[in-house]
Order: sequence, then C-alpha cells, then structure tokens
Amino acid sequence: MVIFYWISWGNSMINAGSITGSKSSGVPWKPCYAERMRGVQASEIRELLKIVEQPGMISFAGGIPDPTFFPTEQIKAAYNAILSDSTEASKALQYSVSEGDAELRSWIAGHMRSKGILCDVEHILITNGSQQALEFLGKLFISPGDRVAVTAPTYLGALQAFSPSQPEYATLHISEDGSVALEGGDTDSEDIHDALVYVVPDFANPTGETLSEVERRGILELAAERGMLVIEDSPYEMLRFDGIPELPLQALDIDGSGGIDASRVVYCGSFSKVFVPGLRVGWVCASREIISRLTLIKQSSDLSSPAINQRVMLHLARTIYDEQVVRACSTYRKKRDVMLSLIGEVMPADSRWTHPDGGMFIWVKLASEIDTRELLEVAARDFGVAFVPGQAFYVNNKGRDMLRLSYTLPSTDEIEIGLQRLGKAILAMS
Ligand code: PMP
Repeated sequence: MVIFYWISWGNSMINAGSITGSKSSGVPWKPCYAERMRGVQASEIRELLKIVEQPGMISFAGGIPDPTFFPTEQIKAAYNAILSDSTEASKALQYSVSEGDAELRSWIAGHMRSKGILCDVEHILITNGSQQALEFLGKLFISPGDRVAVTAPTYLGALQAFSPSQPEYATLHISEDGSVALEGGDTDSEDIHDALVYVVPDFANPTGETLSEVERRGILELAAERGMLVIEDSPYEMLRFDGIPELPLQALDIDGSGGIDASRVVYCGSFSKVFVPGLRVGWVCASREIISRLTLIKQSSDLSSPAINQRVMLHLARTIYDEQVVRACSTYRKKRDVMLSLIGEVMPADSRWTHPDGGMFIWVKLASEIDTRELLEVAARDFGVAFVPGQAFYVNNKGRDMLRLSYTLPSTDEIEIGLQRLGKAILAMS
C-alpha cells in the first residue's frame, strides 16, 4: 500500500514522498525514473517538519495565511451566484481557454498598470498559483547545465520548480549601492549558458527584505549584460504595512526597453496571499511572445485553470480587493510587531534579524554555534514550537545558524507563547 504524507511547507502542503507498507520497495520491477528527477529528493528538513502537525504545536514554520480573514461568505455567495445562473454555470463548469478568463485577465492587466507596468490583456496568462508559473518558466527557459542566478537564501519552491531542468545555480550578490555580482556555478565560463535571474523583490521569502530601486536597477543591468531573463516573483507585494512601494523591476525594464514586448522581465503574481491560496489563482505578466509559449505549456499541463475558480476570483477582485488588502495588512502588521517586540528577549545576545516592512517572514541569524536543524528537532519535540531551519533556503548547505519565522498563522498570544518556547529550546541547547 502506498501512503502519501503531507507536510506544511512555505505556504502550502507539499507531498514529501511516499512510503510503502511492505519491507521491500513493494514493486516487482525496477522503476526507471527520468534523469531530470535525479536531484529531486525529499529533504531531511522536510521530514523533520512533519512534526508541525502534532497537536498543541505553535508553528512559525509555514508561510500560511491567517484563515480568520478569509472572505468565506463572499466566496460562498460568488459560487452561489454563478451556479444559480444557468448561462454562467454552464460556462464556469466547462473547459475554458488556456490563457484564462478574459475578464479576469483584463482586471489583472489593469492591476499591473496601476503598478506602472504598461500591459494589456494579452500579456497575462492565468496559472494555478504563481508556483505553476515558476514550473512553466523553468521548463521554458532552463536546459540542463544552464546558469540560473538566485539570491542566497532564496525561495525553496523556486528551486523545486527549476531543479528538474538541471541548472547550475549561481549566487546573486546584491550590494546596497546597486552593484550586483554572481558567484559560483562557474560564473566566468562561457561554456555555460546564462539562462535567468530569479528574485523575490518585495518582502522576500525567506528574509522579508525588499530590494531598493538602485538594487533593482543593478539586477536589470547584470541581466542585460549577460543576456538573461529576469523572473520577478512578487506574491507578497500587496502586503506592505509600512513605507512606500518600490517600482516593479518589470516597470523599470519596460521604461528602459521601450515596451513590455521588448522586456526581459517576467512578473509572477498571485491572489493567494491577499485572498485565499485554496482557489489556486495566480498569473504571469510578460511579453506576448513569452505568454504564447507559456500557453502551450499550460495546454499540455492541465488545459486550463478551473474556470469556476477564476470567475469567483474575478468577483472577489472586483468587489473587495482593496478592503481585503487593508484587512490582511492590519492583521499581519500587529503580528509582526508582537514578534519583533519579543524576539530580542529569546534570541542569544548579538543575534540579528530582519525588520520587514510587510509580507510574512522574519529571518534570524543566531549568534551561537547551534545548528538550527538540531534546534528544530528539540524545539518541536520537547517544547512544541516549529520554524524552518535556514539551510532549506540555500543550494549549498549554508544557513545552518539561520532560521525563518513566519508570524501570519498564530494569534498574537500564540506568538508570545511560541517565542518563549523557542527561547527555552535555545537555552536547552546552549
Ligand atoms: N513565490 C513565493 C516567493 C512564495 O513564497 C510562494 C508561496 N510560498 C509562491 C511563489 C507560490 O504561491 P502560490 O502558488 O500560492 O501563488
């Protein structure tokens, strides 16, 4: 019998692997897994994180939206309205076009224009969350051995999406003055094709940090010099609690290149963090040429995203988008503030952590020899609190003294108790 087990990861539940009920592998033949899946394995840390599901656990691990402000009533009303109208229902329950619902794409194009990205409906493709967009972009742009530049640390889900294409990862070093350099992945070798740069410029997963305009321009310059595509993955962008929004890299590039059809930037957006992740609606905004190729991949992958979910999302976007952003930001701002006000009491002296202006994460560098994978084991097993060890977000085993805390799911009281538990776990290991 094959049992699939699920763990909380990032904002989502990821299938961590499979186990068989018998002692042997349970299959009478040798599975011939494709070469591209060689490097794709369940990680030790993911195994550890299964513990998060235990009752009484306070989890700072997953970047999971707070369900208390899910617009459940409005979603119910939207499904009802669609299903009660026979014309709407027959469209919403039917196969639909691969590019996505035209009215939703049009709403998204307007939303992107409000950020300075001059685009139209044909520059938008609807995907099943932005995670699907990352997978498609990996398929479209990465051949085995190609160079892919990522920050260190970076979003684990992007590594998972790209790794089956077997890239060589290089690390992006971004300085405050806007100079950007690449390290690793044989950066000077001309035998390696420069494929793409991947960044999460707003309230990054895992650090919570936001790139300044100078830094964004530096990335665009590097990409132009090396002829690379830039993936701007920005699902947290609307969750800004403080400060002024930065212009998207895509807006800056469109300004310099003369239009979106000449731009090297592909923007991935999502409704998961503002509304609900469960409807799985995200999008890509890019040149017509790239959208048409991604559409072919979409067709071969799942034909289209569920039409009914797109119609529901359109209804939510048209009616409550702004108020939902305000609700999410005010809830998360309070939680971030509680975490930031207490974190200093529990971390070893001289530890450092980020002070995000938005998003879901705080990134901590411990001033101690403690390996955060071991700390997770002790913290979860003996103290009932979980987080993600830093190593999960690196391609090269770094980050052993780092950890990611998400403040979005627990209540403010739970944040306080959870931090106290974490402090005790750190003391127990010191
Ligand atoms: N990009 C980043 C940086 C993320 O943190 C996430 C969610 N963890 C995603 C993409 C995927 O989000 P979704 O598929 O729900 O849009």
